[in-house]
Amino acid sequence: MKDLLKRYFGYDEFRPMQEEIVNHIVKGNDCFVLMPTGGGKSLCYQLPALKLDGLTLVVSPLIALMKDQVDALKTCGVSAEFINSSLSPKQIAEIFNKLRKNLVKILYVAPERFSLPSFQEFLKTLPVSLVAVDEAHCISEWGHDFRPDYRHLSRLKYLFPKTPLVALTATATAKVREDIASQLQLGGARVFISSFDRKNLHVRVIEKKQAFQKLSAILQKYRHDPVIIYCFSRKETEDIARQLRSQRFKAKAYHAGLSTKDRNAAQELFIKDEINIIVATIAFGMGIDKPDVRLVVHYTYPKTLEGYYQEIGRAGRDGLPSECVLFYTYADTRKHEFFIDQIRDDESRERSRQKLQEVMNYAKLSTCRKKYLLSYFGEELAQGSCGACDICQAKSATASEAGKPDSPAEFDATAAARMVLAAAALLENRFGQSHVIDVLLGKKLKKIKYHGHNRLSVYGIAAGQSEKQLSHVAGQLIDLGYLVKSEGRFPTLSITKTGMVFLQGKETLALPNPGNEEKIEKLVQAKIKKTTLGYNEELFEMLRVLRKELADKAQVPPFVIFNNVSLQEMARYFPRTNEEFARINGVGAMKLKQFGKTFLKAINNFLKENNIERVNIPKN
Ligand code: ADP
Ligand code: ZN
Repeated sequence: MKDLLKRYFGYDEFRPMQEEIVNHIVKGNDCFVLMPTGGGKSLCYQLPALKLDGLTLVVSPLIALMKDQVDALKTCGVSAEFINSSLSPKQIAEIFNKLRKNLVKILYVAPERFSLPSFQEFLKTLPVSLVAVDEAHCISEWGHDFRPDYRHLSRLKYLFPKTPLVALTATATAKVREDIASQLQLGGARVFISSFDRKNLHVRVIEKKQAFQKLSAILQKYRHDPVIIYCFSRKETEDIARQLRSQRFKAKAYHAGLSTKDRNAAQELFIKDEINIIVATIAFGMGIDKPDVRLVVHYTYPKTLEGYYQEIGRAGRDGLPSECVLFYTYADTRKHEFFIDQIRDDESRERSRQKLQEVMNYAKLSTCRKKYLLSYFGEELAQGSCGACDICQAKSATASEAGKPDSPAEFDATAAARMVLAAAALLENRFGQSHVIDVLLGKKLKKIKYHGHNRLSVYGIAAGQSEKQLSHVAGQLIDLGYLVKSEGRFPTLSITKTGMVFLQGKETLALPNPGNEEKIEKLVQAKIKKTTLGYNEELFEMLRVLRKELADKAQVPPFVIFNNVSLQEMARYFPRTNEEFARINGVGAMKLKQFGKTFLKAINNFLKENNIERVNIPKN
């Protein structure tokens, strides 16, 4: 299997779970694969397809993606085809012919096509040795992306009772999972769940003040790299895109109000690296599979954590370090509430409100953000610090700076801590952190009035103080064990015995200072640099241009030729011969044959011109 992995895809190692899954499938077993976006799901059926005799049938809902996927496979030397409504009858007839002659290894079809009885009859005449259902959550009405045509897929097991069936998805709650298994008759199938912790994603939250200046400062560092900026409204996407263009950024808006033609054009420009910034509503994303998105910005905070996790998941699919920046201000809450208030059904309106609250809680955290996100999705993060969120970064920086004379590492938090503890106690340990703080700040909120909390002695005693600072204090009090946060989706704060002793005593409390935004940004950049392979940037840029030329000629997206990992390795190890070039990650037999000569020539010229010494590529 490793041999096939290198020969066709040029990869030396499997990603977590891939090897087990692949082996399980080639032995003829069904399975259910749950992996985060970017985890490498496609390989789980593509590699068995190459090993098994006969045809692998892949059902995928995204017509826009099929072509890219098939182009990518063809470039790796795999005979793949797709059938969907974008093809003419003549083109489809040609593919049918190829299928009859067993000239196709992997066939992608849209679910609409599969639902045609005549097509099913045709499939039955083919030697199908594996069936894969991608984005399997689309089969469930409980999911967020139900496609009625997916319902027909429950016939798969009748049509191919002895053929291994694999269902794959990145998003499935327990309920959706059961639904998928029962509809596809995967009851006894083994379930593979990989961790949803995307270690290469660096997440941070910044205050939405002078937002555009902050945004444009961040983007300066991403002049050549793909960026997605999520906005709240169509108008906002247009405004931001226009402002960015006036600062010479290559940005385009993308939203559902544009014509299909304009939308496709924007997407195409982005995928082909003609522009590097897409300013979008959440309408953008499902149809794209660009592996090298380096930054995802939420310019307005999103309405659910599910959506947020999916959107940031579009960064760094190639495994290279990437950034996710969320702009947060309480003021944006009104934008969301306006829509939530219009939901007629009481229950679903309340649910939307709670979901929004969860995002706000996330934005105001003073403990590890990844830990919070993962536990929200039911996974425990083992270690104490993720090392890839702003909170953990700030903490480790404070710890290492403590003791230096000119950086006040701590501040006197006695008064603030007493306020937070007293409020938690007075609220009888029944409310969440943000409510506790809202009461202290004396906010005029419906919820506060409803419970009569505006009559409490602590109401408004911290008026005028920074909300962020109070959240920071609350988080530290949890870390210290003065407060506990209950488990579950709507955690409440309760004061502990130690907290009570402190509240009633006369001790003072010093807490570590929260790092400021610029400091954190620098730390993140430094960390990203440290985890990135060192390489010659000039050569990398040259190779990037070369890749673009080849891609345009072949009419495929640049990443189909080589991904950034491959280019970075070339710009680090300077391969000079075919044999050395073959050792680069992502160079399989077919790509070596097709592109080896061109790239080697460019690299050798560069080395000669710059008098660069040879570097030995480590043997795997
Ligand atoms: P998913 O469908 O789970 O979102 P993909 O199958 O699109 O993920 O894979 C994401 C990226 O990771 C692709 O660019 C793919 O080529 C790459 N990839 C997958 N498996 C490996 C591997 N074993 N080594 C290196 N890169 C891999
Ligand atoms: Zn963290």
